[in-house]
Amino acid sequence: MSEPVVLVAFGDMLRVPVNVPKNQPRSLEQAKAHGADVRPIASPMEAAAIARNHPSRSVVFFVAGFETTLAPVAALIKQGLPKNLLLLVAGRLTWPAVAMLLQSERPGFNALIAPGHVATVMGPEEWEFVVRDHHMPAAIGGFTSESLLAATYSTLRQIVDGRAFLDNCYGESVRPGGNPTARRCIAETMQVVDAEWRGIGTISKSGFQLRPEYAAHDARLQFPAGADEARPRRGEMPPGCDCARVILGKVLPTDCRLYGSACTPDTAIGPCMVSDEGACHVWWSAGHRSNARSRATTSGSGRIAART
Ligand code: SF4
Repeated sequence: MSEPVVLVAFGDMLRVPVNVPKNQPRSLEQAKAHGADVRPIASPMEAAAIARNHPSRSVVFFVAGFETTLAPVAALIKQGLPKNLLLLVAGRLTWPAVAMLLQSERPGFNALIAPGHVATVMGPEEWEFVVRDHHMPAAIGGFTSESLLAATYSTLRQIVDGRAFLDNCYGESVRPGGNPTARRCIAETMQVVDAEWRGIGTISKSGFQLRPEYAAHDARLQFPAGADEARPRRGEMPPGCDCARVILGKVLPTDCRLYGSACTPDTAIGPCMVSDEGACHVWWSAGHRSNARSRATTSGSGRIAART
């Protein structure tokens, strides 16, 4: 029997719950507890190092993330992958999801703060369609309070003035054209394809997959038995989880009936509660500890108690 595969993934991914029958591991963390060789990594270079240290084993790197995650992975590919390192690419582009919302009847927002870290890699031009096609105020905001405040002010000012333009409020990082080296690496190693977004459905031209010349390193091709199609509930959120509507801005995290009761950072049910950057986790970190439904029940009983 050949040696078992080593699976490596960024740390957050280990706790993301998936839909499988109850008697099966529901996360990579649980699979590890059941004996699978699952290892958290902090950078793509670590994946390559693990592969080099285990030349007789296949090492599968689960690459989940957006443009900022894909850029260093593409750079690693360009440097040359160890023969036994396979990539399971589940990368997504951000702007097609926003475009899909804007094309819907009710996008749910009337101004956009675009992600500065993505624009740093891909360039601010990717977001010009928001103004050009939808006449919506837009600003690029980055990872500093100053930048986010500036982007918030800019979009509000545009609304008040009845104007719409793309304001780069993260100029210290975001340059016209983005990072040309990173963009070239991505373009030379990956191609853009239609992609399924969990709980949302398929969004046209919103995902990355390896170019055919890297087929020998494509885990999907090398392990066809693990194809997504084999899992009937692959595209669904866990029962009761509202993550899809949360990330689309349709509801607040606290509108989910599981928030703060069944679902907390220690007992995360959906992906939005797992990572520090997940919307539900951010809400929790900001001090919100109960969902809207339980607050309504509590205040309702308070009123009853006051009357009796
Ligand atoms: S609170 Fe938990 S279950 Fe509800 S949307 Fe967020 S992650 Fe999903």
